[in-house]
Amino acid sequence: MALQEYECPACGGAMEFNPHTQKLKCPYCDSEFDVKDYVANHNSSSQGEAVEKPSSEENASSGEQLYVYSCGSCGGEILATESLGSTKCPFCNNNIVVKEKFTGEFKPDYIIPFQKTKEDAVEIYRNYVKSKRLVPSVFLEENHIDEIKGVYVPFWLFDGKESFNGQYEATKIRTWSDAAYNYRETKYYSVSRAGTESFEKVPCDGSKEMPDDLMESLEPFDHSKMVPFNMGYLAGFFANKYNVGALECKAHALKRMDVTTAADFRNTISGYTSVMPVSEHCGTVTSSHKYALYPVYMLSTTWNNNNYIFAMNGQNGRFVGDLPFSIKQALKYYIPIGLIASVVGFICMYLFR
Ligand SMILES: [Zn+2]
Ligand SMILES: [Zn+2]
Repeated sequence: MALQEYECPACGGAMEFNPHTQKLKCPYCDSEFDVKDYVANHNSSSQGEAVEKPSSEENASSGEQLYVYSCGSCGGEILATESLGSTKCPFCNNNIVVKEKFTGEFKPDYIIPFQKTKEDAVEIYRNYVKSKRLVPSVFLEENHIDEIKGVYVPFWLFDGKESFNGQYEATKIRTWSDAAYNYRETKYYSVSRAGTESFEKVPCDGSKEMPDDLMESLEPFDHSKMVPFNMGYLAGFFANKYNVGALECKAHALKRMDVTTAADFRNTISGYTSVMPVSEHCGTVTSSHKYALYPVYMLSTTWNNNNYIFAMNGQNGRFVGDLPFSIKQALKYYIPIGLIASVVGFICMYLFR
């Protein structure tokens, strides 16, 4: 296994990718390099060899086997899970990438580089917590962030063309009256819809560790900022290689396309009193996939012995997660509203008796 390091050509310090300038920056001498140029010029001179060997320890949280790498710069032992390919040396803070995790069959086609820094993420987290009314006030006052990690999460992006065929029974109802009778006329229609709909870059999380629903709530990512993969973007961030294959993800992605296709065709039926589906069929005409890395900040915080996990879209700052719930705050906000509503209800009842 070859380790890629990001040694500064000027001073030898460990360079990091800077989300604001989109360049590699040396924090020691402030030199900046274009990601493409850096890797092209210094690829060969800045790598150390490392042996991947199973460690006797296991990752306590997931039970996953851990691997040991030895840092090319200080010789320290780096522990990592099998899928983790980009990390930091805990001893010398060197940013390293295990090349084999991102080359050959594991080479991503694209990457969306981080656009938010760690500091941005902390600030967004604070504002998010403040904006939630039902969070206990002590929680707001204290600093609870245990850990914040910028992680590139592997995603499969599916392109596809879905065919659709739907039959519906629809009605139009007209009512009118004359002096003697009320009339009601019901017209029945047989409605058909058929065609195809094309999709581009429907994402599907290719990592076992990341909960799918959490990742889906971070969408959308802006694909216009997606660039061809380059290892330089990983400097200073964690990155996982995929451990859920494209085939496993495909069914899930096609299902998402089917649901959207059916809804889009159904929405073209209008002007009826009622519409009942008789049959709806979706089929895949063509599909293909690409492999990409998406930027996500993971924050964990502990409060009252509970662990809370948050995730943030590293591109636009969209934030998701659970926060502790305070009964006291709920009473403060909801009781007065509840009380007013029941008083109004009571007055109405009294008036209309
Ligand atoms: Zn430097
Ligand atoms: Zn080291």
